[in-house]
Amino acid sequence: MSIRLPRILCLCALLVSLAAPAPAQTLAPGARRDLAVLATAYPGLMTAIEVNAAGQAVVILADGTRLPYDDGRSKSPEERLNAPDIKDMLAQPYPLGPVTAEPALGFSPGRCRVEPFFLALYGHDKAAVTANCRPVSFLGQTMAFNTRFGAADAFGRAEKSLARLVAADPSLRRYLLPASGGVVWRVIAGTHRLSVHSFAAAVDVSPKGNPYWRNLPRGTNLLPTRQAFPAAAVAAFEAEGFIWGGKWSEFDLMHFEYRPELVLLARLGRGENLPLADIGGLLRVAR
Ligand SMILES: [Zn+2]
Repeated sequence: MSIRLPRILCLCALLVSLAAPAPAQTLAPGARRDLAVLATAYPGLMTAIEVNAAGQAVVILADGTRLPYDDGRSKSPEERLNAPDIKDMLAQPYPLGPVTAEPALGFSPGRCRVEPFFLALYGHDKAAVTANCRPVSFLGQTMAFNTRFGAADAFGRAEKSLARLVAADPSLRRYLLPASGGVVWRVIAGTHRLSVHSFAAAVDVSPKGNPYWRNLPRGTNLLPTRQAFPAAAVAAFEAEGFIWGGKWSEFDLMHFEYRPELVLLARLGRGENLPLADIGGLLRVAR
């Protein structure tokens, strides 16, 4: 028996390995693309992706957070905002470029955020976020911006483009200044969800000059207001991985936030051939 037992164990191990799903094959193409986009936008954030035999994936982040890619629940638009999974967070395609039409009600790509994902990205409380920030100049002002995953560097590059635009056309200043940023640890008005301003990964440009949807009557035709905002300024932010709240149904004209995963998805969606991170090494068979 002392000789045969290891052989039996080897046989068992072989049978288990044959029965186990190959994660790369069971992960659906959409999930695979979304997770590769996240790995590209935020290198090192995901430490593993567990996939079960049904192809359901759980993402494990560097801080130990475990998040389902798809929790399998059907949700109302409000439930999607309050308790999204990763698939929900990436589901609405962000439209790059000038605004050409009023978005459908509820179409607000980027407004759906998985809060534990952002806590893992930028810091779990105000002190941790603050420690991750550095001052960045913004058209003569200075504000703290989160350095994690290249956010502050991207903000600095966007600012350089904006500075060139403003130098060429000083009338743009009134759309952009004064700006409000830094670590503003607070929930979004009317909700229990943390604002992305909590993480110092967003900026509000000219908050008094640019209208916010909650301050306007329902049914207001907003398209001219959206289109009046300088498209070149929006493009300068988008080129560096920022999205604009002026493209949301619940529009927030002053608001830009760092969401490189959504900009990357948008660029892939319009046919750009962009290299994505290989997530093969992160895939594990769920037990
Ligand atoms: Zn904002």
